[in-house]
Amino acid sequence: MRTLVVDHPLVTHKLTALRDVATDTATFRSLTAELVTLLAYEATREMRVQPVSVTTPVGLASGVKLARPVPLIVPVLRAGIGMLDGMTRLLPMADVGFVGLRRDEESLIASTYADRLPADLTGRDTFVLDPMLATGGTLATVIGMLVTRGAASVTAICLLAAPEGLRRVEEAFPGPEAGRGGNADAAPWVRVVTATVDERLNDRGYIVPGLGDAGDRLFGRI
Ligand code: URA
Repeated sequence: MRTLVVDHPLVTHKLTALRDVATDTATFRSLTAELVTLLAYEATREMRVQPVSVTTPVGLASGVKLARPVPLIVPVLRAGIGMLDGMTRLLPMADVGFVGLRRDEESLIASTYADRLPADLTGRDTFVLDPMLATGGTLATVIGMLVTRGAASVTAICLLAAPEGLRRVEEAFPGPEAGRGGNADAAPWVRVVTATVDERLNDRGYIVPGLGDAGDRLFGRI
């Protein structure tokens, strides 16, 4: 597994505003969308493309278009839904699947309550949206679901990550490190793209200093 921390000043600026307890819901939503678009720009850097040529008003230009099958975006319910707009802004042609996992507040173990994913993901690039990579249990489960269905690559886009969660996903999906063009044919290629790696988890499984409960801040407490 590879981890990319996008330490662009615009990303850090927006993340700082997102963390602020005084940021209201409307601003939190729009900052989330903007951050995801910035992270997605890096997360899609190695997408599969195929060469094409186009006729310009003054000649022939060679370029590329995104290869088929189209990518699959997988927001993890509920908080991942808040990241969908920012992602489809960059990949409007992508399909969208949904996964819902519920975390037991005592054991912190996640169980699946919704699975709306294609049965066959052979050759597809997939992008998981989950704002908080905390214990890593949810993300490891979702990546496992995508890998089992044959995804060519799984890139998780997380606003924040905890070292504990990164370690857990790394242990579950250790290789290949090489990325596309390396050993990518031998095993699916798993990456995490995040705006920051925070200090740690607290005893309730929250990221410290984090931003609190991402789902509540996006959609309210229910
Ligand atoms: N989920 C959240 O919403 N926040 C955390 O800090 C950890 C998990």
